[in-house]
Amino acid sequence: MKEYQLFINGEFVNPARREWFETHDPYTGSAWARIPKGTKEDVDRAVSAASTALKEGVWPTLTPTARGKLLRRLGDLILENAQHLAEMEVRDNGKLMSEMLAQMRSLPEWWWYFGGLADKLEGSVVPLDRADTFAFTTHEPIGVVAALTAWNSPLLFVGMKCAPALAAGCTVVLKPSEFASASTLEFMELTRKAGFPPGVFNVVTGFGADTGAVLAEHPDVAKISFTGSDATGARVYAAAAKTMKRVSLELGGKSPNIVFDDCDMDQAISGAISGIFSATGQTCVAGSRLLVQNSIKKQFVERLVETVKTAKVGNPQDPQTNIGPVATADQFQKVLRYIDIAREGGARCILGGNARTDLPGGQFVDPTIFDDVTNDMRIAQEEVFGPVLSIIGFDTEADAVRIGNDVIYGLAAGVWTKDLSRALRMTKALRAGTVWVNTYRGMSFNLPFGGMKQSGLGRENGIESVREFTELKSVWISTATSGPANPFILKI
Ligand code: NAD
Repeated sequence: MKEYQLFINGEFVNPARREWFETHDPYTGSAWARIPKGTKEDVDRAVSAASTALKEGVWPTLTPTARGKLLRRLGDLILENAQHLAEMEVRDNGKLMSEMLAQMRSLPEWWWYFGGLADKLEGSVVPLDRADTFAFTTHEPIGVVAALTAWNSPLLFVGMKCAPALAAGCTVVLKPSEFASASTLEFMELTRKAGFPPGVFNVVTGFGADTGAVLAEHPDVAKISFTGSDATGARVYAAAAKTMKRVSLELGGKSPNIVFDDCDMDQAISGAISGIFSATGQTCVAGSRLLVQNSIKKQFVERLVETVKTAKVGNPQDPQTNIGPVATADQFQKVLRYIDIAREGGARCILGGNARTDLPGGQFVDPTIFDDVTNDMRIAQEEVFGPVLSIIGFDTEADAVRIGNDVIYGLAAGVWTKDLSRALRMTKALRAGTVWVNTYRGMSFNLPFGGMKQSGLGRENGIESVREFTELKSVWISTATSGPANPFILKI
């Protein structure tokens, strides 16, 4: 079984206490690699390496253009190694090989884009209302960034966090999910090949409650960029408050996918399916609440169910597979628990609702659809993070807005209509960081992504996301040849 090491200060090293834990393939159920169990000593070493690299050595002397070239070279290497990286991720999180390969092939775009932005972080000259003074602003790297990531798309999250952080001139300590750490560790070999100086990237693996918590509390970390559940996000936010760390939080969702009776029904059916069943429902943007206008609901639901029935559940490596396993044993139990909660709450199961016992690994759930859901039920309010769809009927546009917004989350929403005016009204009325019209689940390196309400704080992707890794500094320069007439009075 492969045994991994931590990556600190440009070297692969053993964890201080020489302890490892096993990582499992969700499809076979068997352990396939040993991941280092990092402790406080390791976190201290990694943060110290990142702090030193921020202030000394090659990294702070590089011009932004030279930094950008390193990022772009890393993008090239990701493309060359896309197949291998995708295989690593599938082994850890059980997502479909076809999806992860596509993700790895588009991931270089993040590194190329943010590499290109590294030398475009321009400050401004401010024309102050006073003579003999020159004032300007600069964007400085915020400091050491702790990047804490979830298991569903580990290297995409590394790109979304580290590419803008490094473009801004920061250094990073990564803590991937204990359920999917291998690809992040392997990725470090590519950062070495690309030529990043030691200490710029560091990875400490381990469990959230200890390794992650120690990193989130570390006094020398200036910013935490976190992707995970809202419960953990709240803990991280509280830990950050102790030393006023900056935070970005990308958290959960209960996104409404809203189908009006004037939609293109074929398109809306595929959008509803990919919204909830791709990635086995394990995406933060899952369209887990399908709001269908009552005038077409019967017909729409019948056609939806007919299509979902044809889904092939099974081996994520098989290109014919539509739905893979649930990634972890805990998550599998959680999905089954929510199926019970939905039934107990009065929702009507019209498809699936079972664990699959005929497949290896023991972590498969049939694609599940509940009808007659009302928005006050727990199944409509709480994130399941699995292949479970709740269908809610509505009559008017105002109802759709009210129901769509009536959750604590605000990450994403979908709208299906051919009426342009209605589409625009809906994009304005829905309280979500992303609204898709006649499409669902798109993501791009250059379009901001993030949540409103309890789905998070800050934005990833796009130009603005680099600024989240900088501090804005104002500089005053007096060009006067003599001091003020009265030095005891501050001139405002
Ligand atoms: P999680 O919150 O359990 O873990 C996320 C990360 O935080 C892991 O690295 C974990 O080890 C670490 N962690 C756990 N406890 C910690 C603590 N006390 N202090 C510091 N770090 C700690 O989430 P998960 O199960 O890995 O991921 C699923 C969740 O992530 C879902 O809620 C999903 O919606 C969310 N998610 C959000 C986005 C987004 O961009 N908004 C993307 C993907 C996933």
